[in-house]
Amino acid sequence: MAIDLEQIKKNYADFEDFKIEHLAKNEAAGLEPDVIPILIDEINKRGLDPDLIKGIEAQTKELTESELNELKSKIVNLPCPDCGANNTPLVGTLIRTVKSFIVLTSYKKAPVITCTTCADKRRKNAIISTFLLGWWGIPFGIFRTPIAIIQTLIDKNKRDEISDGILTVFAVENIGEIKTNWDKEIELVDYVRHVNQQN
Ligand SMILES: [Zn+2]
Repeated sequence: MAIDLEQIKKNYADFEDFKIEHLAKNEAAGLEPDVIPILIDEINKRGLDPDLIKGIEAQTKELTESELNELKSKIVNLPCPDCGANNTPLVGTLIRTVKSFIVLTSYKKAPVITCTTCADKRRKNAIISTFLLGWWGIPFGIFRTPIAIIQTLIDKNKRDEISDGILTVFAVENIGEIKTNWDKEIELVDYVRHVNQQN
């Protein structure tokens, strides 16, 4: 079925700014090629941040290895979203936490991007809360608590590998955001903090 470009144009014209910005930064890769110019027109018409177009372009073309490395190094060199330190490269860390609430046991494996000091702090806090809140859920808490703690210790031997994986996924998944805010460090740090919180 052919897409109705006129209808899409109308729909986009009705969207609020934040929705247009969201489409531009996060959904451009999934749009039909014919729809992209409509989105760009809408951005221009409203006088939204012209860098949104850079974000769209980045999502709609293939990513080379050197571009990927450039994205990762952009992230690594940001100030830490937890403590603001800007003298140390950021790393990706997996924070494993188990929490039990009577019959419910939740096991969370959350990737976060912070400086190494904050990563250590988050890891320690996760181990403490797993010790305090993880073990008493029956039956899963009893199994998962030691697993989470052992996994955290195993992770220690492959931190560089884990960090690189987390940074790669972050760069690829958020290329639109990163490219749109390439020269806006505060926005980028806010965004990393936001993703950390969601994970
Ligand atoms: Zn920090």
